[in-house]
Amino acid sequence: MSATLEKLEQLYEGKAKKVYKTADPERYIVSYKDDATAFNGLKKGTIVGKGAINNRMSNYLMQKLEEAGVPTHFVEELNDRETVVRKVKILPLEVIVRNIAAGSFSKRMGVEEGSALRCPILEFSYKNDDLGDPFINDDYAVALGLATREDLQTVRDYTHKVNEFLKAFFLGLNIELVDFKIEFGKTSDGKIILADEISPDTCRLWDATTHEKLDKDRFRRDMGGVEDAYQEVMRRIFG
Ligand code: UDP
Repeated sequence: MSATLEKLEQLYEGKAKKVYKTADPERYIVSYKDDATAFNGLKKGTIVGKGAINNRMSNYLMQKLEEAGVPTHFVEELNDRETVVRKVKILPLEVIVRNIAAGSFSKRMGVEEGSALRCPILEFSYKNDDLGDPFINDDYAVALGLATREDLQTVRDYTHKVNEFLKAFFLGLNIELVDFKIEFGKTSDGKIILADEISPDTCRLWDATTHEKLDKDRFRRDMGGVEDAYQEVMRRIFG
């Protein structure tokens, strides 16, 4: 098993995580950082304790999603910040789901933040920092070779399951799941699985009663109380 796996060579350092090789060619170790960025890296800062919170929360949700029928990269939590995950090749797509209008959608469409939507919206961005993660559709993704039609169908099916599960889960904690971003990867044997993370960095989470923001928007918008908001989500999940 993976209990003895240790970090070997660092493969990659992203904005919020580092990824390491291990002795097992099919396993990586991810290490979550407290670093926070926004606006495509223009704004930088630290959210104290974020790495540990995102690690624990993401792992917990991925295990629940596995039980709900969505395969994920999660293998084993090693410690506060580090987790063994299945090796995947990340599809260069940000998969975004919106249940309530907010953020870039509100800006682009001229719809007030907090407005109800008649159905959940699933949208794709091309994961490319140089281009600022541009909005794309299925034809763009297929034409550019980012994914096949079959890949996109699988991604859509899993993403709807993820949304249904997460919406209900957070509502049970009196939290509205406004929107979120997930990423998928392909294993060596060609299976698509949920990868990356699910955390207050990647979800908009509003208190269902007060509509107080409990997510990274507090950092993006200099609202203060960032650490407290992340801890509040943890408290509601784990007690
Ligand atoms: N999101 C993310 N990473 C990104 C872009 C968006 O995790 O690079 C998340 C964001 O936290 C929000 C959702 O995806 O929960 C939708 O974000 P939006 O497109 O509104 O962009 P933003 O307003 O964050 O720029």
